[in-house]
Amino acid sequence: YDLRNEDLKDLRELGQGNGGSVKQVEHTPTGTIMAKKIVLIDAKPSVRKQILRELHIMHDCNSPYIVSFHGAYLADPNICICMEFMDKGSLDGIYKKIGPIDIDIVRQVALAVLEGLTYLYDVHRIIHRDIKPSNMLCNSKGEIKICDFGVSGELINSIADTFVGTSTYMSPERIQGAQYTVKSDVWSLGISLIELALGRFPFSESESDDSDLSDFEGTLSPARPGSMGSIAALSLPPRQKRAKSGTAKKDKRKSKGVSLQGGGMTMSILELLQHIVNEPAPKLTPEGRFPAESENFVDSCLLKDPDARTTPKELLNFPWIEQAKTAQIDIEAWASTF
Ligand code: ADP
Ligand code: MG
Repeated sequence: YDLRNEDLKDLRELGQGNGGSVKQVEHTPTGTIMAKKIVLIDAKPSVRKQILRELHIMHDCNSPYIVSFHGAYLADPNICICMEFMDKGSLDGIYKKIGPIDIDIVRQVALAVLEGLTYLYDVHRIIHRDIKPSNMLCNSKGEIKICDFGVSGELINSIADTFVGTSTYMSPERIQGAQYTVKSDVWSLGISLIELALGRFPFSESESDDSDLSDFEGTLSPARPGSMGSIAALSLPPRQKRAKSGTAKKDKRKSKGVSLQGGGMTMSILELLQHIVNEPAPKLTPEGRFPAESENFVDSCLLKDPDARTTPKELLNFPWIEQAKTAQIDIEAWASTF
């Protein structure tokens, strides 16, 4: 497609994230339904053009486990990225609607994400960098695919400079400013799988605790170009400004601030990051509720030492994932229930 803004008709808003929103649109000349992501980028024209060039790589990312790319264009001051529309939405939206996701489905999600990560890394040397349930999408054909991977170094930098929200799927080594590797994605996968199976973000302490630490407001300045930042570089905007922009930008942020309360627990974002670095990794709990192979898999994703942690490719050979390859799980039927 040669995409032009005039040819895209807004149908509805699909969601808002950090630094942009996603809309379901129709490409009127062809009748194709797409998801259009609008990213506001405060960067020079030369940088914006560079971002567009880098996004072009996405045309070559063809895998059943990767959301396909229709094209990107500049619509000052935004960059619009058009991709395959996944009509059942993201897995965070799904579990928030239907509750904890059955472990047999979670196993299929794990397989799809690992296949996607392995494809990106083996074929294109791309590290995803933003694995979390909202970047795992499902459609009514029963397909599960990942989106929003870090193809454009310039785009990552531009967003990091202005606003970086969700960062609590971040691995301990990344919080401490270490280089990003494909193993950091594995940590984020482990956290995400626990979240899907329990129906809540694993760092919130009790079931009744509805405070959501999976998002926070603030700025993480890059420790160096290409890395997202560290605790040392964490800075937060003044409280007043934060509250204002939070309500204006994103409704669900209303209740969020630096200090988050709920279920008798209060944890600030700094405490959470420190917790990830200093405390034992979360687990699929309570022990014995889930199959031993799933506990074993998640524990391997969440080894705190990145050298000991498994790569996506090795994880594809884990017993739990081998089961996923042969199990007859009808995701299409499951997706038709919501
Ligand atoms: P985040 O991933 O942090 O939630 P995004 O701006 O990337 O923020 O996406 C916002 C929401 O839009 C997602 O949570 C998801 O539910 C929805 N979304 C994103 N891409 C697609 C897509 N290709 N098809 C359907 N829904 C999508
Ligand atoms: Mg996203």
